[in-house]
Amino acid sequence: MSAEKITYIHNPEGDNAVGRQSEWAGRDVLISLAVGVVIFGLYLLLNGSVFSVPSIRQAVLKRQNARLMEKIEYIGQRTAIQSERLEELEMRDNKVYRPIFGMDELPPEVRSAGYGSESRYDVFQGFPNARLLTESARNQDVMEMRAYLQSLSYDDIEKVAMKIEDMTRFIPSLIPVCPGREITFTSPFGYRIHPIMGNVIFHSGTDIAGPRGTPVYAAADGVVSDVKSNYHGYGNVVDIDHGFGYATRYGHLNSANVEPGQKIHRGDQIGTIGSTGRATGPHLHYEVLYNTLQVNPWNYFDKTISPKEYMTLVTPADKLKD
Ligand SMILES: [Zn+2]
Repeated sequence: MSAEKITYIHNPEGDNAVGRQSEWAGRDVLISLAVGVVIFGLYLLLNGSVFSVPSIRQAVLKRQNARLMEKIEYIGQRTAIQSERLEELEMRDNKVYRPIFGMDELPPEVRSAGYGSESRYDVFQGFPNARLLTESARNQDVMEMRAYLQSLSYDDIEKVAMKIEDMTRFIPSLIPVCPGREITFTSPFGYRIHPIMGNVIFHSGTDIAGPRGTPVYAAADGVVSDVKSNYHGYGNVVDIDHGFGYATRYGHLNSANVEPGQKIHRGDQIGTIGSTGRATGPHLHYEVLYNTLQVNPWNYFDKTISPKEYMTLVTPADKLKD
């Protein structure tokens, strides 16, 4: 028996080709299954837990979360330190700077008011650390508003400080009569026994006794607001409005040489000492008013000026320009 030579001819449409194709398809299925198993395993590792071991993704997120928490806590600590520093500035502002310039303190409710609605923090709801995030954001907002208010306060102080040089010219600090041997401070401000009535009454000014005709000078810059002549009371009276809440009154004048509406500089002569009105002798009744209330003129006087210096600061009536 002779061996039969078998020749395989490639025939894609033939049975043999189909057999080979089936063989290859089987291997593809196995590889696909293996890849599928690997992908599924990776999926489990990344998204869930296999035998309660945390996935890689979870571990990464956990570490990131821990770092973020540390950062938030650090910001919180820095905010607390900055808040303390701001508090010192606010305290100095209220207790030192503002009082120097006669400004009222800013009350706590003004300093902490109006940093916005709580609803702005709703955006943090649903976060794992919502409370901490809300608190941190709120503290930052409060700080921002307090710092802004503090800057406004400094702006106000700056404005007042710019005016302070002007302001001092309007504060009644010049004694209205030249200090010297000829004058005497006879009746101080406050309660006293009235020299004519004999009863205890409030004396709303300071009396300065001196020879009739002694010049009387304006205590500060201002505008003459009134010139009156009474038979009783303070007799011939000149009132000056200095602005910034200050006014002065000069009573019992022998004569007045100014008119209502006239602009006055500190040291301008406004009249002379007399005893018009209800007076026991020639003297000046001098009042200082602050925000319409009489205050003690003595506290405003510059008592360091010598008579010689004083005469360089004043302008006699005949030298006044219109
Ligand atoms: Zn008096």
